[in-house]
Amino acid sequence: MDYVTRTLDGLRRSSPGQGEFYQAVEEVLEVLAPVLDADRRYQDEAVVERLLEPERQIFFRIAWLDDQGRVRVNKGYRVQFSSTLGPYKGGLRFHPSVNAGIIKFLGFEQIFKNALTGLPLGGAKGGSDFDPKGCSQGEIMRFCQAFMTELHRHIGATIDVPAGDIGVGQREIGYLYGQYRRLNGRFEGVLTGKAAGWGGSLGRREATGYGCVYFAENMLAERGDTLAGKRCLVSGAGNVALYTLEKLTQLGARPISCSDSSGTLIHRAGLDVALLKDIKERRRLPLRDYLDCHTDATFIPVADYTAGRSPVWHEPAELAFPCATQNELTGVDAEALVANGVVGVCEGANMPSTREAVSCFLRAGIDYGPGKAANAGGVAVSQLEMQQNAAMARWPAEKVDQTLRAIMRDIHRRASATAEEFGAPGNLVLGANVAGFRRVADAMIEQGVF
Ligand code: NDP
Repeated sequence: MDYVTRTLDGLRRSSPGQGEFYQAVEEVLEVLAPVLDADRRYQDEAVVERLLEPERQIFFRIAWLDDQGRVRVNKGYRVQFSSTLGPYKGGLRFHPSVNAGIIKFLGFEQIFKNALTGLPLGGAKGGSDFDPKGCSQGEIMRFCQAFMTELHRHIGATIDVPAGDIGVGQREIGYLYGQYRRLNGRFEGVLTGKAAGWGGSLGRREATGYGCVYFAENMLAERGDTLAGKRCLVSGAGNVALYTLEKLTQLGARPISCSDSSGTLIHRAGLDVALLKDIKERRRLPLRDYLDCHTDATFIPVADYTAGRSPVWHEPAELAFPCATQNELTGVDAEALVANGVVGVCEGANMPSTREAVSCFLRAGIDYGPGKAANAGGVAVSQLEMQQNAAMARWPAEKVDQTLRAIMRDIHRRASATAEEFGAPGNLVLGANVAGFRRVADAMIEQGVF
């Protein structure tokens, strides 16, 4: 039995019931096989075995009071995977689907994503099974305070710097930061994604979405193509989706779909992004409210989905940007995209495409930017926020945006050059995973066994 199969078998036995974690590891190890065979040091020094085991996993109880004065209890997680390249870094997710396997898949991906940016960042992830939907502002604040009351002892500006993810935006980061400051009495860059008025970086809110579109621009440029006039399908209507939609529109593309947990919105004339931001970001209303202003748009509620699948991928278009959640784009969806003439897929979300979908994209030879590379703009600008906090400085928005653009170009170039080196030009799954792995693996060997 070869090394990769043996390692995956061992992982399946040691991490039962952690399907998403296993899926993320399988994708990485399968493309790493030639690297692991070519350089025996990686096997001799058990680099993969060490990477699969987080350096530290913190599981904790969060007890808080709801508006009726009832005690509510949730699970909290912070999985500190790797600090080889810098302080642990990765977001916090608040969603009822959160469990140890999901946090481990996200944390594992984060190691390679952060390595790929070229910046000094380790990999981590955290969160809770808390469901913010339907909670009052006061409940969200009390939950965040209870969460930080336990987490604060494990993080710090040069130790572990969490950020947002699903269900955690600027409001939640504010409550978390306030509680950290109350408990520690230190005004330091311990969280990123803060509001710009008190330590946040201009451009952080936009960074993941904008970065994803810059990545798509680079993929297309390699074929001598541009975004101008391209019809784009986008899933999600949260932070990443909204700023993907905004940058696509700014660069002359025509986004025609988006979605949320209530349904899918299709507007073939081109989505009104300012209205969407007002509905979803400012007023926190359901997507359906868009129809009040645009009667030529269509909203398909989840209850009307065929076989439970969102129709978001089944419209004719040239580009697709999955920006909601993991495994939201299946093999069937991928085949529909390819049949409808899609030339590129760029992932704003983490692992949104199933393994069948990824195989379909690679077989069809279309441009495919895996999340690990394409959505790294968020963590990259988080690192710029850390730099500004450490220097007590504040960069203008143009400087942040230019730096983000340059980082996304470098990530694309690095992944693309590595794919060429391994005889698979254009295969950015291979390029991103191998480039990220080599940076962290070489550093682990140089720093000795621990
Ligand atoms: P948000 O919470 O801001 O938005 C998530 C969006 O996706 C919401 O519109 C939500 O619907 C929708 N959604 C979530 N789960 C489902 C589901 N199961 N079915 C249908 N719709 C769903 O999160 P983000 O935009 O921050 O994150 C989106 C993705 O991007 C995640 O995979 C995250 O890990 C990844 N990512 C985020 C980064 C960041 O900087 N925020 C950085 C890198 C990656 P509703 O509005 O109804 O809740």
